[in-house]
Amino acid sequence: MTTLIENARILVNSLLVKANIIVEAGKIESVGKRKITRFDEKIDARLGFVLPGLVDAHAHLHDPKFTNREDFTNGTAAAAAGGVTTVVEMVLSTPVDTAERVRRKIKVGEVKSLIDFSLHAGMMNLENSVHIGKIAKIGVRSFKTFTCKPYYANDHTVMALMRETTAHESILNVHAEDEELANENLQRLKAEGRMDPAAHLEWKPNPVEERAIKKVIHFAHDVKARLHISHISTAEAVRLIRKAKNERVNVTVETCPHYLTLTGKDMKKLGPYLKMNPSLKTVRDLEALWSGLRDGTVDLVTSEHAPGERSEKEVGWKDIWKAWGGVPTIETMLPVLLSEGLNKGRISMARLQKVVCENPARVFGFYPKKGTIQKGSDADLVIVDLKTKRKVRGGDLHYKVGWTPYEGWRLQGWPRLTMRRGSVIYEDGQILAKPGEARFLPMFQ
Ligand SMILES: [Zn+2]
Repeated sequence: MTTLIENARILVNSLLVKANIIVEAGKIESVGKRKITRFDEKIDARLGFVLPGLVDAHAHLHDPKFTNREDFTNGTAAAAAGGVTTVVEMVLSTPVDTAERVRRKIKVGEVKSLIDFSLHAGMMNLENSVHIGKIAKIGVRSFKTFTCKPYYANDHTVMALMRETTAHESILNVHAEDEELANENLQRLKAEGRMDPAAHLEWKPNPVEERAIKKVIHFAHDVKARLHISHISTAEAVRLIRKAKNERVNVTVETCPHYLTLTGKDMKKLGPYLKMNPSLKTVRDLEALWSGLRDGTVDLVTSEHAPGERSEKEVGWKDIWKAWGGVPTIETMLPVLLSEGLNKGRISMARLQKVVCENPARVFGFYPKKGTIQKGSDADLVIVDLKTKRKVRGGDLHYKVGWTPYEGWRLQGWPRLTMRRGSVIYEDGQILAKPGEARFLPMFQ
């Protein structure tokens, strides 16, 4: 199967060029002036901008246990519609912490996913840390742990995990919020009888993230570990990471569309629908995160797709502690970054492409197979129409849960066509992929 993509506007070394992309047997055969006369399919990309398929390094697909919220097929359909062609599924309520469990989860993905995928293992603690070596051998070399409840690992455990992941050339991926500070706040709020949505914001204010990040950076420096910090939400985190990188600590960090576009104030209107961990912060934090993306302090943007059903959110109007924490985001990640980032002058196209394509592929070891448009790479591409404006409606998106935190937002810049290893898997609103075509991607191989 040979495909010619004509008139593609792409970035090469941050420069805009017009090129033809020739795809053969799922791989990029050439990028440049060359044209061919024999092909099976021709795609005219004249009206769009061509990006490498996005690599989303943190998404909860809830499969196989909580498929009322999302599953591999449905979640990766939403991903394809959003221009995402690789996903790293993030463990949540169902443990993926032994080689056996990792293999089982890979099977589920191979049967049900529409796009290529990898996994983070977790939630790691002292007991299951003995499995790290065996799991790493399968190619899952990112291990998630928490410095706070509900998967709290204490300082000793975090350092022990760092030693173990480092010994197996793997990444320790940390949800960094400080349990001691958070718990003090929680006890006070509960004693005051607070159950309103704003109480969630007061539970984990900025110092909670700041304190945990300071600590894990210090540990990583001591152990010489490879540290990745999930979903940062504060200006303080950006400052600490900038400093750590200057001091050559081996740390990478991600933020998410919601921390770049929404603040705690939006909870006034949307209440429990915006309950998430970490919680939303302020405009000051949001702008600091954009500046971190611009100067390279923040390495990548992940969707942190974590849908919950409406009913699981609605209970939070009365009692915020009972509401599901998380938002569906995978399908709108790219349109949101284009609209709020590129179109508002907060980020260049070159930088945007780095943080959603190249960097996640590099950080988790899929580069240059994924995350770039060059000869020999997988033909994972997304043709984006930068001019199309569309009002976001939960019902129009592919999520099972039927809602979005961006309801009613007018976003400009939408994927028109998504290609995975040479096959068109999404075009003009239609999902064209079938389950069973996805491949598991081992990290760093
Ligand atoms: Zn998460």
